[in-house]
Amino acid sequence: MTTAVSWKDTYQQARLEEILPDGIVRCHLSPRNCTLKEGQHGFCGVRANRSGRLVTLNYGKSVHATEETIETEAVNHFSPGERILSMGNVGCMLNCSYCHNWKTSQAKFVSDKDVYYYTPEDVVNIALRHNIRMISWTYNDPVVWHEFVRDASRLAKEKGLMNLYKSAFYITPEAIDELVPSMDIFSISLKAIDAEYYRKVTKGTLEPVLEATKHAYKSGRHIEISNLMITDMTDNEDTSRKVADFVLKNLDPSVPVHFVRFHPDYRMRDTVRTPIPRLIRAREIAMEMGLEHVYVGNVYDTPYSNTVCNGCGAMLVTRYGLNAKTVGLNDAGQCKKCGRDAHVKMRGVPPVRDAFKDIPRDGMQVKQFDWHGDVRSLHVQVKNTHSETVKVYIRRRLNDGNHTDWLLHNLVPDESYRTIVAKNFANEIGCEIALPNGLPNNLHEVFDRAHFPTVAVEEVGVARNDISPLPIYGRNVLQQ
Ligand code: SF4
Repeated sequence: MTTAVSWKDTYQQARLEEILPDGIVRCHLSPRNCTLKEGQHGFCGVRANRSGRLVTLNYGKSVHATEETIETEAVNHFSPGERILSMGNVGCMLNCSYCHNWKTSQAKFVSDKDVYYYTPEDVVNIALRHNIRMISWTYNDPVVWHEFVRDASRLAKEKGLMNLYKSAFYITPEAIDELVPSMDIFSISLKAIDAEYYRKVTKGTLEPVLEATKHAYKSGRHIEISNLMITDMTDNEDTSRKVADFVLKNLDPSVPVHFVRFHPDYRMRDTVRTPIPRLIRAREIAMEMGLEHVYVGNVYDTPYSNTVCNGCGAMLVTRYGLNAKTVGLNDAGQCKKCGRDAHVKMRGVPPVRDAFKDIPRDGMQVKQFDWHGDVRSLHVQVKNTHSETVKVYIRRRLNDGNHTDWLLHNLVPDESYRTIVAKNFANEIGCEIALPNGLPNNLHEVFDRAHFPTVAVEEVGVARNDISPLPIYGRNVLQQ
């Protein structure tokens, strides 16, 4: 990894360029098709016209690579429990009023301290070193990172890794065609199914998203659809019916659909979280209409995130928050009891980390964190400044005084590593992190999946409310 003075200082030739007369270029990456004169930037803020050519400003520029689980990405029917390496970047072709990642999705807010520099080889090597089989292109949105995603995902594929694309999917068919060869999964975030809402709230348009979804489905790759239900705006029965109708008419009934709970953020903090009964009702309607696998997302401790056999009712996969356990599926993704196809693509048993009852304590410090309010996940970031490999351990604390085993993370010299810890048991009160004294480290509170926190507990303290993560939009002290 190397660092530049500012992330905007360097750029390289972009793909999907159309050269027009008089030094003008047009971008064919997202349906905006921005037409740019010399010096102009696209809506996304990370593509520009430099000397009459279309360039990308964010190649290899990312938020910190983070180990998570596939459930973080609204994917329930592909290798449950799989550990993933999540890669986000900077910029976005949309500007949703409630964006959970506004500090990195909106180029004008991006701070150099939040930008890390990776090559495709760096990304693949991190995954291989930590025995992670899948890279997830996620967070702000991978569309505007197209060249890097294309290069790195192809290299990952060559090395035997899988790729997941989690996106709002405001993307052109030609860009999708460049991704299909290396992607295994498209997890598509359908923001709403109303054209007026798309225009007002996302600053995009609905129709290209629907067309792109159909295009990706025809590629034969694994598809899951999620729909964020905003309180009193889209958390109604009509939305559920329209989403189900779209999937039934254009995809197929086995495509998993997730109705996802909203948390107030960015410019939309004057409302409350989606009432859970409305999400459950949305799920009921979609299943009554014929969808086979419908889930409630961003809700802990709900039976509606489990996978149950539609034939005999047997439990197939249990989920708690962002953790999953396969209990009733065979290797072909069928119910072990009755043999019905549950449409779950299995990839063998996902590798797990080494676990220990006890660990050496000499020269180690132990940090504790308590789950509170809606903060039930944490990103732990540690930098190994030593000249030899160091061991970092993480375990969970239960309310009866017991603990889970310590899970081991080996960090090579100079490595900075970030991993999620998500509450896994109803009686879990928090977690502990054991690491060698003196290593730089920090903890980042996570509200819901697809949220990449940019400030650390050590910087600003723990969240002062239970519904909006820090930093809060509009507070000058927290904006760069
Ligand atoms: S990616 Fe979209 S928003 Fe960005 S320059 Fe291209 S067309 Fe415009």
